[in-house]
Amino acid sequence: MDDQAHAARTMWNCLHDWWSMLPKDKRSLAAADAAIRQARKEIDWLGVLPAQAAQAVLKTYFQAWRNRWDGRADAPNFKARIRTVMSVDIPQGRDLNITRVHRRWGMVNIPKIGRVRFRWTKDLPVAKHATTGNRVTGARLVKDALGWHIAFRVQALQAKPEPHPGPHVGIDAGVNLPLALSDGNHRDHGRPPRLPNGKADRDKWLNPQEKAKLLGLERRAAQRKQHRQCGEKTSRRLRHTYDQIKQLRAKATRRAVDWQHKTTTSIAMQYGTIVVEQLNIKSMVKSAKGTTEEPGRNVAQKSGLNRAISQEAWGRTVTMLTYKTARHGGALHKVPAPGTSLRCSACGITTPGSREDQATFVCKNPECRLSCNADWNAARNVLHLYRMGHALTPAAGRAVVRRPRGVKPATAR
Ligand SMILES: [Zn+2]
Repeated sequence: MDDQAHAARTMWNCLHDWWSMLPKDKRSLAAADAAIRQARKEIDWLGVLPAQAAQAVLKTYFQAWRNRWDGRADAPNFKARIRTVMSVDIPQGRDLNITRVHRRWGMVNIPKIGRVRFRWTKDLPVAKHATTGNRVTGARLVKDALGWHIAFRVQALQAKPEPHPGPHVGIDAGVNLPLALSDGNHRDHGRPPRLPNGKADRDKWLNPQEKAKLLGLERRAAQRKQHRQCGEKTSRRLRHTYDQIKQLRAKATRRAVDWQHKTTTSIAMQYGTIVVEQLNIKSMVKSAKGTTEEPGRNVAQKSGLNRAISQEAWGRTVTMLTYKTARHGGALHKVPAPGTSLRCSACGITTPGSREDQATFVCKNPECRLSCNADWNAARNVLHLYRMGHALTPAAGRAVVRRPRGVKPATAR
């Protein structure tokens, strides 16, 4: 599989090289197709890539340019060996021949590899369950630190969901409360962002034994790195240690994503209208260090907070909520973020010093004196902004058919 993935990546790079060198009038899909056929015939290690997968590379490459022209992404570029996620496409579902052999295991045909077993985690429309409108149309193999994974592409016809009658809710992405809900029904994963000594806990999704193991591995890697001469190749032992570290981190990411999926599903099932802040995580996170002319203040403290923000992966939560609310007939709305964490949700006045620390909010208005959790206060403000009609674009629905240039689709935002 690794050979196939490397061949697919090289195919992309050759294609990009070929495309950028060619004069504009010679660039065409047919010419690219002919070039790929020739490459697969003449270069034997490119031949390990099945013909269908090579065609899929071409299709993805053209889609990448289309995304560029529509303003959704940057122009395609070369794929570096170390940074690229290894993946191979199987664009046709016809030859997969999926069978279920056990409650938890299935078998599938992979081109040029043969019949392999995979973990059965979701109901697939195969054999007698498959119909013309509900079937597997392809698959994609992706590698991460824990091994190869297969994702099946499924075409399904589903009834349009009934409008969700559930209540409205505002959600704030906090650091102390991962998801604060305006009705007090907060969602917490029970993994505090900080260690007892006040430092940010970057491995909060690992249990104490795993943390100890990670520390040992990091020490071992540092020690082995010391013995490596400049310009010398990374030793196989050091690479093995790096792989073990990567595996632990991948495990932590899986746990975080699992929690996000379960939480967003339950929120989408319970509530009809969900309101979130329009946050620009990228600019929030990048502002810590500042520039060389204007260095930032409290850099260490703020970068710890930033790490907590990026680890909560708010953007991914919003993406999940977007398609899950649409699936359950609900709607997701975004409201402008400025001031939501500083304004009092009871009297509506912003008083200086009301945000006493990350966790507590105390209103300094003498007639109000509200004292509560800061994230809950922000969530109530978010819902209030929506009720006052300050919602930005409705982000529900899967496809935005016509949009102005330079605007990303709702799910990519
Ligand atoms: Zn107040």
